[in-house]
Amino acid sequence: MSKKVLVVGAGLGGIATALRLAKQGFDVEILEKNKQAGGRLNQIKKDGFTFDTGPSFFSMSYEFEEFARDCGINLPFQYVELDPLYSVHIKGNPRIFHLYKDLDRLAEQFNDFEPGFRVKMEKYLKKSGALFDDTIDIVIKRNFNSLPAYLVALATVNPIHLPILFRSFYDQVKKHFSSKEARMIISLVAFFLGRTPFDTNAVYTLLSYTEFRHNGYFNVEGGMYKIVEGIVDELNKSNVKIHYNTEIVEFKEENGKLKYFIDQTGKQWTADSFLVNSDAANFRHTIFKRKGYESERMAKKSWTMGYLTIYLGINIKLPEINHHNYYLGEDFEGYAHNILHKKEVLDNPYYYVNVLSRKNPECAPEGCESLFFVCPVPNLLAKPDWRDKDQIVDKVIRDFSDRIGIGIGDHIVSKTVYTPIDWQDQFNLYMGSGLGLSHSLGQIGGFRPPNHDEDFENVFYAGASTVPGAGLPMAIISSKLATERILEFSSKK
Ligand SMILES: Cc1cc2nc3c(=O)[nH]c(=O)nc-3n(C[C@H](O)[C@H](O)[C@H](O)COP(=O)(O)OP(=O)(O)OC[C@H]3O[C@@H](n4cnc5c(N)ncnc54)[C@H](O)[C@@H]3O)c2cc1C
Repeated sequence: MSKKVLVVGAGLGGIATALRLAKQGFDVEILEKNKQAGGRLNQIKKDGFTFDTGPSFFSMSYEFEEFARDCGINLPFQYVELDPLYSVHIKGNPRIFHLYKDLDRLAEQFNDFEPGFRVKMEKYLKKSGALFDDTIDIVIKRNFNSLPAYLVALATVNPIHLPILFRSFYDQVKKHFSSKEARMIISLVAFFLGRTPFDTNAVYTLLSYTEFRHNGYFNVEGGMYKIVEGIVDELNKSNVKIHYNTEIVEFKEENGKLKYFIDQTGKQWTADSFLVNSDAANFRHTIFKRKGYESERMAKKSWTMGYLTIYLGINIKLPEINHHNYYLGEDFEGYAHNILHKKEVLDNPYYYVNVLSRKNPECAPEGCESLFFVCPVPNLLAKPDWRDKDQIVDKVIRDFSDRIGIGIGDHIVSKTVYTPIDWQDQFNLYMGSGLGLSHSLGQIGGFRPPNHDEDFENVFYAGASTVPGAGLPMAIISSKLATERILEFSSKK
């Protein structure tokens, strides 16, 4: 059995795979370019405030439970269900929509302009639930050895879902709801996949089922970074060493295998097998320089949008603001159509606000609030120049102040901003694309960069741009799929 595994990247996919492998008896070491673990699931501690840098909630909590069971540990963090899931504010509409899982409470807010909302929602969720049940085990939680094997598996999916493949997320929602507000709010979840409801396939309406029925959204006590701290603690207990400030920049191959990686200081890192958690497409592009991942081919792939993220510490409390909030403008369709291409949309940015200190008071000094804004923006393919970031940030802060009726500008005591350039540089994300490769039909399952390397039999991948896709639960599933690959490879040796 090949025992030594080197993991490149301490993102969630990397550390989760490392723990699974360590528990299987492998000798595991992790190399991470930054000074702390977590990748996009990270944390900023500044001026007495704590901020989660990326994810602020997760779905499919049972995937984390299964991960802990597989590793023979208690889940090393506590999670709390969000209720409402989130709140939505639409410009010019005085009503705040609270997304309750309880469909009666949800329907109360829609009935006057979307008659029969509850029945429509039941019908919509029944369809998205069937999609979830009929695909999760067949095409999401499974390794495929080839594209034909994936296509054969797809062919076993209930053909009743076939028409949906030819529809967008928004069109599917439109079939069930007639009001502008219901369509906008129910389709908002497509943004969580890094694209818009107009260019995300209707297959992903299964996300509505995961949020409302199967099993909601969860926040982590003490902040999302507790997930990383908990797993890193477990890695320490299993003697897995993480080498920080170590970036892989080169490699050496021998007889169809990777012999060693080389870091930025020239140091060689040898192992029997290697798990790459750095973005699976970008690593093939920048380090392995693979066919199919040349600059022109990379630019033609479908990438998710960029994120402008703002971390504000303010010296007042905002008791009226919920934990998770979306602030949308009036022209949802126009905005969504242009967000990936036109920087002009940032004249009236849409954004998400998370008040971390609402549920975790220890994340801000007494009387203060820790705020996190996420503004979906074009990635660097469409907007490479971010010298205007301060103007955009000011617009977001002004708009938020107007909408809540409190000028927070004068109360800012801590401010950090990441543009897509920062996301790119910190975590090696191609063109600052926040979630990596998009989930278009031609880039999922057997069409996504696989989790086993094309050329080196001892190299495997886990994380957002390989199978199954982006988001924290997917990173956990990805760690399971990559572990299966490494176990299979090692047992042959
Ligand atoms: C703003 C934002 C908000 C998000 N919100 C949510 C949310 O609410 N819920 C949710 O479920 N998901 C959310 N996501 C998505 C989620 O963060 C990602 O899907 C997930 O964290 C990706 O994990 P990963 O395993 O792919 O690793 P990554 O986070 O990409 O980590 C990869 C690691 O590899 C390191 N690395 C890269 N190259 C090298 C190299 N050459 N050598 C050494 N190390 C290297 C990087 O520094 C990084 O630490 C959000 C993402 C963003 C950007």
